[in-house]
Amino acid sequence: MSSHSKPLTQLPYSDEATRFLARPPRLFINGEWTPSSSGNTVAVIDPSSGKEITRIAEASEADVDRAVAAARTAFDDSRWTGLAPTARERLIHHLADLLERDADKFAELEAIDNGKPKAFAAAGDLPFAIANLRYVAGWTTKLAGETIEPGLSPEGTFHAYLRREPIGVAAQIVPWNFPLSMAIDKIAPALAAGCTIVLKPAELTSLTALRLADLIIEAGFPAGVVNIVTGRGSVAGERLVRHPDVDKVSFTGSTAVGKHINTAATETMKRVTLELGGKSPVVVLPDFDADQAAAGAAQAIFYNAGQVCVAGSRLYVHSSIFDKVVEGLASHASYWAPRPSLDPDAHMGPVVSQGQFDRVMGYIEAGTKAGASLATGGDAPSSDGGYYINPTVLVDVKPDMGVVREEIFGPVLVAQRYDDLDDVVRQANDTPYGLAAGIWTHDLGAMHRLASKIKAGTIWGNTHGAVDPLMPFGGYKQSGIGRQQGRAGVEMYTELKSVIIRL
Ligand code: NAD
Repeated sequence: MSSHSKPLTQLPYSDEATRFLARPPRLFINGEWTPSSSGNTVAVIDPSSGKEITRIAEASEADVDRAVAAARTAFDDSRWTGLAPTARERLIHHLADLLERDADKFAELEAIDNGKPKAFAAAGDLPFAIANLRYVAGWTTKLAGETIEPGLSPEGTFHAYLRREPIGVAAQIVPWNFPLSMAIDKIAPALAAGCTIVLKPAELTSLTALRLADLIIEAGFPAGVVNIVTGRGSVAGERLVRHPDVDKVSFTGSTAVGKHINTAATETMKRVTLELGGKSPVVVLPDFDADQAAAGAAQAIFYNAGQVCVAGSRLYVHSSIFDKVVEGLASHASYWAPRPSLDPDAHMGPVVSQGQFDRVMGYIEAGTKAGASLATGGDAPSSDGGYYINPTVLVDVKPDMGVVREEIFGPVLVAQRYDDLDDVVRQANDTPYGLAAGIWTHDLGAMHRLASKIKAGTIWGNTHGAVDPLMPFGGYKQSGIGRQQGRAGVEMYTELKSVIIRL
């Protein structure tokens, strides 16, 4: 039987995962597991089956206050910054070691919770998270100030220098598409800079963040340095971004919620980093092999079922090879046909939830109603209750259609043709977003010209989606504020202090 005629039925969980799911719903505050004050919980659904598999605690405002108080105390009494930088470096490396040890278990849990294929979590999310921790560990001993000779005073009369200090308590709010690696992307640089943390995972996918708390305890981090509160954005998230004892908010999620958070955080002038949505263009030049381009474009949109902020969701192909690339996309779609997340043959899983399923199918319907044609997909395979959507490519689209302008966050690509480079630059930039772009060509001159003209925080050439802990990541325009990763990402958790002393 070919993998695509097998029924879409989730596979049994390991004993380890089953034991984890049987735990009572708890928050992780001040180094301890604690129930929510209200006793309220949120259901956890396996998107591959549509069935409830456990419940997580729903933090109330009072629970968030407890977590912020723990982080505040841990920052103010210097139990974290008071450690030697080399000791903090060792602890972060230790956490990376433990994550490496348990990588297979984390990959399974991520697959169960989010719907992504376990093999993809094991090959992508986990190695990225581990490398990220190892990279930032080194910054604990390398963030440095600077001495400066004051310009308005004769030499020797003043001593002036810059200090880089941790901001304080960081509230970190993450989405559901890469739950663990997004959590590490937040926690790691904040720890390296010397901040203490309250992390709120997405209500749809909190399991790996909770499992991470086990490793934070085992690694030996001082209590209160990292706190993890599960719960709803409208309650726990809202309280975090307004809390007067929070100094910094780092948020990854939708542009709509990001704008709201930016406004809310202004009340107490919190430092804010926002990693938001995208509608990233993929541009194929006429010299590029059509089948290779189709394979690349398919991977750019169907990886993680298109639930990727940098998904290559708008394809622009030169008219001379447009039809060939679209044909190629249709043939590559079978590789990406959705399978349950624990199936070893899975390359793409279901989308994360019933709500996301309805939203994506709604976009496909609206697109075809507005005049777009389906080159492939557009429907949902029958299953035992999971949220599976076939890889979909829409053609005959117009620049003003919702499917071209809005972030769908599902396995749906809109393909358009262009005739010259100025035209494609204009089309690529015709969006309120500016997160990423992909360019496919062997013409180096054209590659660099496009790389400089497309307004996006990351440009990929002849690849798509490559992220690296060393490379700053973030958005132009409405795709965000600030950068994560690299030195810039660590510095986002610091304040610069000028010290000027008369001698
Ligand atoms: P979302 O904005 O709905 O939720 C993200 C997080 O914010 C969740 O933890 C949620 O509980 C919380 N939240 C919701 N309302 C809140 C409020 N009022 N106050 C505080 N917190 C609140 O996004 P999502 O649906 O989970 O994720 C998908 C979105 O995330 C997409 O738009 C995607 O592009 C974006 N994303 C961006 C990046 C990036 O790095 N730029 C990475 C991944 C995902």
